[in-house]
This record gives sequence, structure tokens and C-alpha cells, in this order.
Amino acid sequence: PGQLEGKIAVVTAAGQGIGRAIAEAFAVEGAKVHASDIDIKKLDGLDASKAVLDVTDTDAVNAYAAEIGGIDILVNVAGFVHHGTVLDCTESDWDFSFDLNVKSMHRMIRALLPGMLARAEANDSSGSIINMSSGASSLKGAPNRYVYGTTKAAVIGLTKAVAQDFIRQRIRCNAICPGTIESPSWHQRVEELGKSVGSTDKALQMFVDRQPMGRVGKPEEVAALAVYLASDAAAFTTGTAIPIDGGWTL
Ligand code: NAD
Repeated sequence: PGQLEGKIAVVTAAGQGIGRAIAEAFAVEGAKVHASDIDIKKLDGLDASKAVLDVTDTDAVNAYAAEIGGIDILVNVAGFVHHGTVLDCTESDWDFSFDLNVKSMHRMIRALLPGMLARAEANDSSGSIINMSSGASSLKGAPNRYVYGTTKAAVIGLTKAVAQDFIRQRIRCNAICPGTIESPSWHQRVEELGKSVGSTDKALQMFVDRQPMGRVGKPEEVAALAVYLASDAAAFTTGTAIPIDGGWTL
């Protein structure tokens, strides 16, 4: 049997990149997956029940949670990378980044945790919440990731707070801190950088060069960690922020 047989999972931003790889890996491991994204078309081909969900819309999140009910696994993936320093970050950039990267997790957990608690109690099982943070967070200051890194540090704080409050109620909460992972938005960032450094190839080389392992990561590698954290194999693991970054934060 799969590692997640009999479990019900919710994955946000499951349309592409890390979220999609997690939704796919969960299905392969036997979970029933509720995959959502702000862009429903991106969910095509996933073995999951699919819904459009904008995680910055509190009413939509509450309605989604009411429809789904009790779950075992919640993976908060949605996030946005703002490029620049404090001087490039307007108040609206700040608010947008915090809304999408942090408050979205607050909304999702607040809406879905009551159903998770009830299901864990009824089935004598445990629930697992996984939040996508980043190496660019409290783990590392990365150049031109001012508000992004600030939000991802907040994700680690939120993760530990939830882990602490529900530790005796069978709910675990952990954060994943990826380094550079190949994804559609990462390819866009490489192209953008290419415009200022001369070529896409040069930009690609710059991203690869900052990786001690000499390569960027694959979404499937992050998904394997998510499967572990979601599974009962990780029953003793809560409140952690786990780097998966080819040695970037080493
Ligand atoms: P991505 O950025 O390529 O895709 C993001 C997905 O989120 C898209 O499918 C998009 O439609 C969806 N989305 C955007 N706004 C949304 C909203 N309001 N509600 C719901 N969905 C929305 O994917 P990625 O690069 O794999 O990043 C996924 C997560 O992993 C993000 O939180 C990101 O910060 C984090 N992360 C990524 C990397 C990396 O190098 N790729 C590294 C560290 C952390």
C-alpha cells in the first residue's frame, strides 16, 4: 500500500511547480487529493478533485473548507516572489506579499483545522499541516528577496505557533524550506535576470553557481519530503523548518 493510503489531502497552488508535484506524489501514494489553484486550467491532468481557489479570498476559503469537511493533510503552497530590496518594496508590494504568502496560510488553517481535529479524534489518527517556506527566510538572507524572505520567515513562526498549540491534539505542523527549484515561475525569474545580465544562459549559470551542489532542485524532490511529512512515518516530527536546498544554507 501507498504511504498515504486512506488519507484525505488538500493542496493549494497545485497547478504547477512544487504544488503540482506534491499533488501528483500524494495521489501515487494513495491519498484522496483535493487540488486547487487560482487558475483552474493548470489543474488539467491531475488525479484529484479540482477546484478554483484564490487563497487570498477569505469567503472562498471558508466555503471551500465547508464543502470538503474533515481532512488529514493540508499543504499550503501558494506564494509569490517579489524581487528587490526594501527600497523597491512599496506598501502595496508588502501587503500583497504578506496576504498571499502568510495570511493565506492563516486562512486555510483556520478554516480547515476544526475538521482535521475532528477527523483525527474520530479515527484515532493524526493530522499533518505542511507550509511552504523557503531557504530565503530566517534561515538565510538572500539578495533582492527583501519582502519575500520576510514573509517566509513569518511562515516559520506561524508553523511553530500552530505546532505548539495543537501538539497534544494529534496535529503536526512543519515547514519546508526549499532552495532554488525548477518551476515555471523560476524559469520566468531566470529570463528576467537574463535581460539585465545579457543572456538567459548567463542568468541560468548564475542561479546554478550559487548552488553548492552545482544544480537546482526538482519539484519531485520537494514532493518526496512532503510525502514523508504527511505520512505516519513522520509521527514524531512537528514544528520543524526543513531545508531542502542542495546545500544552499549549509
Ligand atoms: P510557481 O510560482 O511556478 O506557481 C505558483 C502557483 O500558484 C501557480 O499555479 C499559480 O496559479 C498559483 N497561484 C498564484 N496565486 C494564487 C492564489 N492567490 N491562490 C491560489 N493559487 C495561486 O510555483 P513554485 O515556484 O513551485 O512555488 C511554489 C511555492 O514554493 C511558493 O510558495 C514559493 O514561494 C515556494 N518556493 C519556491 C522555490 C522555487 O525555487 N521554485 C523556492 C523556495 C520556495
